[in-house]
Amino acid sequence: MAKGKVQTNPETPKPLLVRAATKTLSISAADFLPHDESMPSLRQASKGCMGCDLWRNATQTVFGEGNSGSTVMMVGEKPGDKEDLAGRPFVGPAGALLDRALEAAGIDREKVYVTNVVKHFKWTRKGRMRIHRKPSSREITACRPWLDAELRTVRPRIVVCLGSTAAQALLGKDFRVTQQRGEFIENDGVLFTATVHPSSILRSPDAETRHREMDLFIRDLQGVAGILQERKAA
Ligand code: SF4
Repeated sequence: MAKGKVQTNPETPKPLLVRAATKTLSISAADFLPHDESMPSLRQASKGCMGCDLWRNATQTVFGEGNSGSTVMMVGEKPGDKEDLAGRPFVGPAGALLDRALEAAGIDREKVYVTNVVKHFKWTRKGRMRIHRKPSSREITACRPWLDAELRTVRPRIVVCLGSTAAQALLGKDFRVTQQRGEFIENDGVLFTATVHPSSILRSPDAETRHREMDLFIRDLQGVAGILQERKAA
């Protein structure tokens, strides 16, 4: 499908409906959701979440950040080392790269809400380093109620999945970022799209690849900026 075109896919799993999946788990973030789904209340409640085992080995919950009513929500995989220590998402090198790309694409950072599929840092020790580990599908499902609550509260017009974990969580396990990045899929009035995670650009093997990947990342975000402009003009 041509980049920038909007596809309506009735078969796309509904991103806002995960209650059925979480019911099969003995415990999940659903057990810790507050009745009041205002952002301060959600953030406060998330601090005490024990919906899976990831809280045991992490410093703190890293909830999403940005204004309720942000037009764009960016969803990554999980907090990294710096985010775990700071208690804020996208504050490390990947966050700095994301900020540069948003600026280059002409997207106002103030109108972007950033969060992750999983709210606790998952890692393993290697010498003095804390090495990232990918969250399991059980952990992603257990944490999903927080992301759904963020979607209900922020009500973004566009959701940008950063990397395959976020894309497959929100767009289905068959979604391939390598083949489908930059496409837009409409679901319940919200546009979903996916691109790479900024940390993958930082891991490029050489400067030339890094520049090329950064250009492609900015191009994907320019697609988001274009849709925002179109919808504003409509
Ligand atoms: S990763 Fe999510 S579900 Fe697991 S303890 Fe942390 S906030 Fe709760």
